[in-house]
Amino acid sequence: MDLFDSNSSERASLPRNMIENSMFEEEPDVVDLAKDSTAFPTFPALDPDEVTYEPRSSRLLVRGLGENDMDDDEEDCESSARLLGMSFMNRSSAHRSNSSPYTRQAPPRSCSRPSSRTIVVCVLFLVIVASVTMVFYFLPGCTFTKAGCHKPNKTNPIEPVYPISTNGELFPWAQLRLPQSIKPLSYDLTLNPDLDKMTFTGRTVISMSILHSTNRIVFHGANLNITKATFKLGDGQASDVTILEYKPRQQLAVNFSEELKAGQYCVLTMEYSANFSNAYDGFYKSFYIDKDRNKRVLAATQFEPLSARKAFPCFDEPAFKATFLIKISRKKTYMTLSNMPKAKSTNLSNGLVQDEFEKTSVNMSTYLVAFIVADFTPNTKNVSETQVSVYSVPEKNGHTEYALTITSKLLEFYNNFFDINYPLKKLDLVAIPDFLAGAMENLGLITFRETTLLVGKESSLLEKQVVASVIAHELAHQVLLFVFVSVKRNSEYVHMSNVFLFFFVLQWFGNLVTMTWWNDLWLNEGFATYMEYMSLQEVSPDLETGNLFLSVRFRALDKDALNSSHAVSTDVNTTEQVEEMFDSVSYEKGASILLMLNASFPGDQQFRKGIIEYLKQFSGLNTDTDDLWNSLTQTDKSTHHMNVSQMMTSWTSQKGFPLVTVNLMGNQVTLAQEHFLLTSDNTTHTSSLWHIPVTYVNDSCSLAPECRQVFTLKNKSDTFKLSENVTWLKLNYKNTGFYIVDYGKDGWSALAQALFSNVGVLTHEDRASLIHNIFALSRLGRVSFLQVINLLKYVSADTETSPVTEALLQLNNIYRQLEKRQESNLASRMKNFIMSTFRNLTAKQTWEEEENVSKQELRSALLEMACNLNDENCTQQATSLFKKYMESNGTLRIPGDLQQTVFTVAGRSDETWDALFNIYVHATYDSEKRKMLKGLASTQNPQRLVQILSFGLRGSLIQTQELPLVISTMCQSFAGCLFAWDFIQENWDRLIEKFPIGSFAIQAIIKSVTSQSSTQAQLNKVQAFFSGLKERGSQMRSVQEALETIKLNQRWMDRNLPTLQKWL
Ligand SMILES: [Zn+2]
Repeated sequence: MDLFDSNSSERASLPRNMIENSMFEEEPDVVDLAKDSTAFPTFPALDPDEVTYEPRSSRLLVRGLGENDMDDDEEDCESSARLLGMSFMNRSSAHRSNSSPYTRQAPPRSCSRPSSRTIVVCVLFLVIVASVTMVFYFLPGCTFTKAGCHKPNKTNPIEPVYPISTNGELFPWAQLRLPQSIKPLSYDLTLNPDLDKMTFTGRTVISMSILHSTNRIVFHGANLNITKATFKLGDGQASDVTILEYKPRQQLAVNFSEELKAGQYCVLTMEYSANFSNAYDGFYKSFYIDKDRNKRVLAATQFEPLSARKAFPCFDEPAFKATFLIKISRKKTYMTLSNMPKAKSTNLSNGLVQDEFEKTSVNMSTYLVAFIVADFTPNTKNVSETQVSVYSVPEKNGHTEYALTITSKLLEFYNNFFDINYPLKKLDLVAIPDFLAGAMENLGLITFRETTLLVGKESSLLEKQVVASVIAHELAHQVLLFVFVSVKRNSEYVHMSNVFLFFFVLQWFGNLVTMTWWNDLWLNEGFATYMEYMSLQEVSPDLETGNLFLSVRFRALDKDALNSSHAVSTDVNTTEQVEEMFDSVSYEKGASILLMLNASFPGDQQFRKGIIEYLKQFSGLNTDTDDLWNSLTQTDKSTHHMNVSQMMTSWTSQKGFPLVTVNLMGNQVTLAQEHFLLTSDNTTHTSSLWHIPVTYVNDSCSLAPECRQVFTLKNKSDTFKLSENVTWLKLNYKNTGFYIVDYGKDGWSALAQALFSNVGVLTHEDRASLIHNIFALSRLGRVSFLQVINLLKYVSADTETSPVTEALLQLNNIYRQLEKRQESNLASRMKNFIMSTFRNLTAKQTWEEEENVSKQELRSALLEMACNLNDENCTQQATSLFKKYMESNGTLRIPGDLQQTVFTVAGRSDETWDALFNIYVHATYDSEKRKMLKGLASTQNPQRLVQILSFGLRGSLIQTQELPLVISTMCQSFAGCLFAWDFIQENWDRLIEKFPIGSFAIQAIIKSVTSQSSTQAQLNKVQAFFSGLKERGSQMRSVQEALETIKLNQRWMDRNLPTLQKWL
């Protein structure tokens, strides 16, 4: 799956896939409003019933702004004032924090020196323990049990407490994970969707093999009304069975009075009916408005991670792989798609047509199954033996060309890369109007948001970059699925012709083929994310994805620095935890550590040989990742001898990453490592150690790859000698390692001085890495803010995208925090500082078409900044461009990278907001549409803010899938964030209906409203709300993350406000 956040300037801050949805309980009124296009630009008045909430603080704001007279309300004042950070309102939270689940436990007392008495006691204790151990060792195991040495009662092992099924009987299973005694072999699915009634019926036939004798079959099903079920054992007669259901775990079961014996085969057949899902998962309904303003309905699926069970009864865990034969009936005006090519179509007696698809050629997990019923049209091209088609709603067919071209190139690339041709006869890429994730890698049928697949011919490369990278990510998933199967079959390893073979092996043995549970997700997603950037650098270097990859690595470090982070490979025990695995640690940290590993190997050839050796040696055996690591270690005869197994384990099994401190004395270098852990109370210490392939360059050779040297730091500290004396060292060359470096006071000033004299003394990645690292260290409290300022002195001379955008992002973050603390004086001084630092570079930016991606990124970041900070020249330019755009009646195209700036300026102005809204409602071009929406959400007008949120929640005019984007945009401003926060509190239950607890959409929403808060009042408010949610989300990791972040912001502000006062 690809997470999605298309906000280009902040794209790096979030993984690009979220599940947002846009379905609704009520029928949307889109048709009416859309039909009546004359209703705009006059904004349609909201029916009072339609406005589902009235934010308390928004009311206050309305009054404050003098726009409206409203009744005073004490509670409203208090609510808003608290959020405003007014300390006199700050009460009643102290008792809460004590009972809060988020309160950190007091740390264990540190050890003091033991007294001699303690030593004696300890020795005695050890002797006793040793004696007792020996007694246990020699006595039978049952001696000390209450029951003595009875023969174990076979029929009565410790009985778990079974829950009660919906029909009142005991449900025969008490765990989240399914029992392993039954293995599904094949599914035969028949689906009859009724797009008029929004329901479907189905028939599922599951053939199974019994692995261990058992009395029950337990599997998954959610919201399915099972009307008939029969069971057949071996060649016997089919007979009716009762299906038990335990709803909280979405499990179904059949109990048998006689044991099913290991080795037997059986078939379970179920008939059922269900409603289409209202959310973005399962078999869900969606719609779009066609060019004649008619509403067109369709149905599509999104099963990863836990929603196949909502469409058909199944063993819905990744380890239960089987084949699938799928049949779907439809009206003649519709078409259907599924994983495999269509085998035949049959006319049914009821006037419908039934399409039958070929049986899947490989065993696959349920989460990869997909089907669609819609009236889409394809754009098709043959690549090798595969017919590649890009499907969209008919009127957007003109926007499919780029996706088709880049997919063809990427598919050829992957075919060569793995030396295996993609084996399916077809590969469909489908743009679905309502889709929450960025995309989903269903086998043979990849589904996308429209924004991540459709792009106009005239679009800028920056817009194409979004589409290309999502496709590259999904194709990596797709191709790998087959590479594994294929290689496993024929053992033709030697043909593998690329060093990246390693990654495929890693993936293979890292359990993708046998991915048993979601804790392995990082290899799946980390690998696809890594391949996404690697493949595009080869296939389409003009897209310059390097800057993007660098910035996502920075954001992954920021998240992983928190105490609430988790190890990439971590326990997953609840459905919410499964959802939470789809985060930047699995995606971006996963990709980062693969990059680090690859970058740490000196030679490709030796490495490749080792892999081939390994594959030959272990071919057919049941090996695990450790064997692979060991084999690589043996092959790696290079100077920086590294144990790959230990190295990778240190990165995957521990949360967080190291802070490497470097001390340079003449030619002697001392390195030390510790856990880079941001904690708000400075009490948590960990003894984590990593195997770090530390790369470095120095003042005499710092740019070319040959300058790079490697030293593996495994211990807490280590020293080595350089061949000559150097003035400075820069560690983590091009930031390919997943760690942060502290150079010490002298080291930092030497680097700052070097950059100040000559910007080009380091690569732009290294400059960006220094900027990122020093801000992170300032957050940690390791460097003073004066040191940060000292480094930033050079920045006004920098003209490259990655360092400039990183500096902008960091400074903007401080500016936003000041604004939200109501430190208006400081905020405006900060604004002046930002403007003056980048004045020259901003002045050089043009408003014409720009060809180069990197320059587009730079320009859009600078101009957005300037306009957001109300730079007059910028807002004037943007306003006049928007005017021309309106007057041209859609014929003039604003350069893609400038659209966001222009639409945001238009959206913030009361004069042009309605016009922008009108254009938005009628726009079909998706990436433009999202930028317009961001512009609209940038307004400070309370009524409009309320309207936008309300439309978004109902899915009318603004798709519900866009709510996370709307909220994150509103939260860029102080007033907007108040509305968003109230909205979230008032509508929490409706939000989690659409976006599952823990899902990326919810993670993003929580982050948006909290990440720039820094006062005690704000903290109390956030804490009070989330702790009150209980099972409705209080235990989410993103909640802990939010609380930690606010505390850290608070600490940073306490420490640095005086410095800011003095310096600004
Ligand atoms: Zn993915």
